[in-house]
Amino acid sequence: MSLSVPIRLSPPHFDGREMLYVQQAMDEGWVSQGGANLDKFEQVLGDYLGVEHVAALNSGTSAIHLALRLLNIKPGDYVICSSFTFVASANPILYEKARPIFVDSEPATWNMDPGLLQDAIESSLKMGHKPAAVIFVHLYGMPGKIEEIARVCQEFEIPLIEDAAEALGASWKGKKVGTFGTLGVYSFNGNKIITTGGGGALVSGNKELIDKAKYLATQAREIAPHYQHSEVGYNYRMSNIAAGIGRGQMEVLEERIKKRRLIFDRYMKEFRNDSGVSLLCELPGAYSNRWLTTMLFDREKTGIDRNDIMIHLEKHNIETRPVWKPMHRQPVFKEAKCFDNGVSDGLFKRGLCLPSGADLTDTDLDRVIEFIKKLL
Ligand SMILES: *Cc1c(COP(=O)(O)O)cnc(C)c1O
Repeated sequence: MSLSVPIRLSPPHFDGREMLYVQQAMDEGWVSQGGANLDKFEQVLGDYLGVEHVAALNSGTSAIHLALRLLNIKPGDYVICSSFTFVASANPILYEKARPIFVDSEPATWNMDPGLLQDAIESSLKMGHKPAAVIFVHLYGMPGKIEEIARVCQEFEIPLIEDAAEALGASWKGKKVGTFGTLGVYSFNGNKIITTGGGGALVSGNKELIDKAKYLATQAREIAPHYQHSEVGYNYRMSNIAAGIGRGQMEVLEERIKKRRLIFDRYMKEFRNDSGVSLLCELPGAYSNRWLTTMLFDREKTGIDRNDIMIHLEKHNIETRPVWKPMHRQPVFKEAKCFDNGVSDGLFKRGLCLPSGADLTDTDLDRVIEFIKKLL
């Protein structure tokens, strides 16, 4: 066992004015719902994204759940979702007792394949049911083929939810991802590119949708001095304390992205010429936030597989993690239909997420690279 300091995958990183804003919230006595931090955080996030309406929430998962509620998803409805993602993208479909249809990835960005999406929609239509929504994920901060996806959704008049939980700050042809669809979702969980401790946001160009989201997120409380409720709501709002952390983090977001991109560049430089190893490149027009650097290991060429590398690095106190296991391979979704081309299965077999935190030092990075090189 090595005694060296642990190197984590993507730890939270605070060195800004988070405490100042949190202290203000405490001093003013606004620590739960409502307060200056919450208003300001929503405004700053909206300005950054170039989107007009923002609801700050207590998680990315609640943002996806509200998106489904806003689009009137009903029990038995079909909702198309990326298969290659974290389970939070798809769980809310089951909350509403709707039925997920998973769609596999294309190899260039690892995100949902637009051609396969079209197949999934046409096949559903043939069977007499039109999908009620599409949940498209920009995984690991890499923009997917969002213009093509949006075109397919428009052609069939199906609302598009963009799960940009991992992709805050990423853009496609200069437009931020999460702002192409009817609704966009972000997460500020502790491991994401910036954090509020736990939190999320739902954004849209449509004011009515975001007003309704804020209403549903506060127990669907109607405007009346007595508490009046005509439909079921949730306790999904972000607290003014969390929003204070978020304000501090928004001020350093660009720095964080720059740092994570530099970390990717370094891995790329070191492994570019190694056979059997590959990294995910940006398509022309894509700008990734490089939330996590991911690497594929081809066992035939390297003689070692993803799991061996992970276990070995763990012994040296270096945290890595397999890429997400596709949703169509998860027992909880065993009844769901999948339009499967084998791409996400292949990625899952070979892919590993490498330490990518913005506080990673050059020495840490040297250590990670040295250990992987030794194994290859
Ligand atoms: C983290 C994440 C979410 C959920 O966000 P939480 O804030 O943890 O609820 C949703 N989708 C993806 C792809 C994520 O990585």
